[in-house]
Amino acid sequence: MNTIYASPVCELEQLNDIFIELTAKNCNTRCRECYIKFPFTKNIKDFIKTDTVKESLNQLENENIRCIYLTGAEPMTHPDFNSILRLCIKKANVCICTNASFINEKKARFLRNVESNEEHNIMFKLSFAHWDELKNDAVRTRGSYRQNIYALKCLDKYNFTNILSVSNFYKEPHNSIINRFQEKLEEIGIENAVIQINEWATENNVDTLPELTGATDCMSSRTLTVNGVFACPFLANDYRGRMGSDFNNYSKTVRLETSFCAACIKNNDKMLTVELE
Ligand code: SF4
Repeated sequence: MNTIYASPVCELEQLNDIFIELTAKNCNTRCRECYIKFPFTKNIKDFIKTDTVKESLNQLENENIRCIYLTGAEPMTHPDFNSILRLCIKKANVCICTNASFINEKKARFLRNVESNEEHNIMFKLSFAHWDELKNDAVRTRGSYRQNIYALKCLDKYNFTNILSVSNFYKEPHNSIINRFQEKLEEIGIENAVIQINEWATENNVDTLPELTGATDCMSSRTLTVNGVFACPFLANDYRGRMGSDFNNYSKTVRLETSFCAACIKNNDKMLTVELE
């Protein structure tokens, strides 16, 4: 008997989070094991236009958006980053997902000034692969760990909320990861940071689709890129994740059929958005 396989679907429950891919996946560091497929060449003409962001935020006027995540790959390489940030923070809290290479004390002070004129907050998401510098940099890039620690110190000085996004490349127990990061944070005098641990996700590291029992980011978010609206940052610009051309007209249903989806389901919780009180 022939059986027809239909991949599971995931419905958007409420649109609470928006990711905006600012730089068409361009990054100034290109970490070794990043889930992003970087383009061969950088062309600033491919970056998202400030007007596109403005138009999209207008389309989202009646949605209850909780947080706008600015991604890039590295969003701070966008020449109009500050203007886009100012537009977004008028609408919702903004989380800057960054490799930290543009953060120094002066930048932290500037961003604190931007935030102080608005009712919403700016927070930061910094990526780690391990609490040990050498193990971290072996996965990411040389100097990445120190860059993150320096940025954390600068941002903490100006009271920003920082999220340490830890990809569990070395498959270690979550308790031990949390304890070791907390020790490190204490050592550098940082009291307030959120640690989010995800199982490692790449395009090829999971090949079977487990049953969907936990939450996934596509249940509460959509991603804007120069090519339209997508299910999530993992599937940004992938035809399998395309949801529509703009926020006036996009799909609420995602068909889970990629190995990224399998990694998300296996992770059993949202990998990219963060619930903060
Ligand atoms: S990769 Fe994850 S968040 Fe993206 S569509 Fe698949 S299950 Fe949803």
